Amino acid sequence: LFITFEGIDGAGKTTHIDATSQWLRERGHTLLHTREPGGTELAEALRALFLHKDMDGLTEALLVFAARRDHLRQVIAPALQQGHTVLCDRFADATFAYQGGGRGMDWAQLQTLEQWVVGPHQPQLTLWFDLDPAVAAQRRALARSADRLEQQDLDFFALVRSAYERRAAEAPERVRRIDAGQSIEAVRTQVLAQLEALC
Ligand code: C5P
Ligand code: MG
Repeated sequence: LFITFEGIDGAGKTTHIDATSQWLRERGHTLLHTREPGGTELAEALRALFLHKDMDGLTEALLVFAARRDHLRQVIAPALQQGHTVLCDRFADATFAYQGGGRGMDWAQLQTLEQWVVGPHQPQLTLWFDLDPAVAAQRRALARSADRLEQQDLDFFALVRSAYERRAAEAPERVRRIDAGQSIEAVRTQVLAQLEALC
């Protein structure tokens, strides 16, 4: 089972991965918890470049897909093969959202890269934590660290959010919207309802 977590920065996906892990463990799943960009030594090195160097949208897309290729080949695919449940904090939808929506990269070109790199390894479930960009910005302001990408303005995050919406519309069976504007407890209830439906 391959489950991914998506949403704009500040939506709370990282927080809810922990609740998900606990729920799945109690049901006998052995888990691999990983993240993108990153998840292998090479991909983490690419992440560091990605987060701290200025580059255009195409370079970003190529870099995150290169990192994804390494991560899939070395970590995700072998874990799925061995019967583990893989939880990944961001995956290909983030590329459509950030590089497609945010940076204006061509959707069809990203789809080509996705077919090339992800191929049959699509997640069975993607939990999309959807939140108003203004609320997300307030939450980010309360957290300490920020990388170059979290400094973007509300217009950027509105574009990212719309692109997530488009991805959800294109794959409604896989991508499930979570209303991340609710309380942590209410969000958790929505997350567990999706897991119940799947497992
Ligand atoms: O998920 P996390 O916050 O760790 O992601 C690190 C940064 O990379 C975030 O600011 C996110 O917006 C950005 N990112 C991106 N394009 C991706 C994946 C992540 O701009 N494809
Ligand atoms: Mg973040």
